[in-house]
Amino acid sequence: MARLDINELQKTFGRDDDQIEAVSGLSLSVADGEFLVLVGPSGCGKSTTLNCVAGLESVTGGDIRIGGEVVNEERPEEREIAMVFQNYALYPHMTAAENMGFGLKMTTSLSASERHERVRETAELLDIGELLEKKPKSLSGGQKQRVALGRAIVREPSVFLMDEPLSNLDASLRSTMRTEIQQLQENLDVTTVYVTHDQTEAMTMADRIAVLYDGELQQVGTPLDCYYRPRNRFVGEFIGEPAMNTLPVVAQGGRLVGDGFDYPVPERVEERLAGRELTLGIRPEAIDIVEPGTGAATGTVEVVEPLGESSHVYLDVAETTVTVKSDGPSAVKRGDTVGIEFPSERIHLFRADSGEAVARRDSVPGKQTETPVQTGDD
Ligand code: ATP
Repeated sequence: MARLDINELQKTFGRDDDQIEAVSGLSLSVADGEFLVLVGPSGCGKSTTLNCVAGLESVTGGDIRIGGEVVNEERPEEREIAMVFQNYALYPHMTAAENMGFGLKMTTSLSASERHERVRETAELLDIGELLEKKPKSLSGGQKQRVALGRAIVREPSVFLMDEPLSNLDASLRSTMRTEIQQLQENLDVTTVYVTHDQTEAMTMADRIAVLYDGELQQVGTPLDCYYRPRNRFVGEFIGEPAMNTLPVVAQGGRLVGDGFDYPVPERVEERLAGRELTLGIRPEAIDIVEPGTGAATGTVEVVEPLGESSHVYLDVAETTVTVKSDGPSAVKRGDTVGIEFPSERIHLFRADSGEAVARRDSVPGKQTETPVQTGDD
């Protein structure tokens, strides 16, 4: 076990005028035993970051420390890391047991019987004892991923690196494996960096989430911190499902005014925001449907999606789609005219130009936070 420090990591691909900066000055520390999820849309630099930590890619700038030691120049097998990939990366001609034991054979001086014992113990932990003599082609996707996890665990690494390990599995297996990986990580207490583009995976598995966009770190915090206190519009919209609604508004005369939209400026920020162009963010689950002509805006119901325990209602508000998530079956139907209302503590305000949050709530509801209130740029 060890802490992992990524300091000003930079990774550029290509040469001269055909360069792509995949990672731009990323700094991030993962505590000993912590489960950190790197999340962001396709192409934001998640895999490149992980590959740099693993030693599969060289770094262009910055350094990577495992247990306080700079490992930039170390080969992957010298780094005490074990990696799990989306495509399992099992050797097809080897049995599950041979796949799991192969790394031990190559990198340790353990005897054959010691290796065999470690593989057996790990297989028991993962409940795959009866699969050990099978070859990958006769295993299901979920079984293959368990073998791949076993191959990582058996090496007793200081750091686990997992790159979208559940993406090839169907939805129900994904959800089971999510819980299993989380429990395993907790029991083994190994520092873990887990890469995914799926915000639900990030929210449900992580001790902390690091949100990346365009090679840059947008926010690092607990899942609830990122959900309730996004630092910028990107994080606000990326974390949470369905996505946060965003509406362009101007703060004038104590009101937030937009197309078909009018809402009082929260008192705590009124003076500071006067005259500013902002983006108001409001999550679908924070909105109530009210009588038309009352509330912050009036719109027309375009689509109702019943999901059983909740419904998603899509409204047209002055040609902007606003999503509302309500409990149980929806009382409204396509074509209805309705109002929307929401509590002031649930609104997010971002600068229209940079997207930076200008007023964040000072804590996650029901929790104390160490992060100070963000007051914007003034
Ligand atoms: P995904 O979820 O699609 O895997 P990602 O967030 O993991 O995306 P990366 O694979 O790290 O993103 O890629 C980041 C950027 O670097 C992308 O623009 C990608 O095209 C580029 N890139 C990645 N690997 C290489 C490479 N070997 N050569 C050139 N460009 C690369």
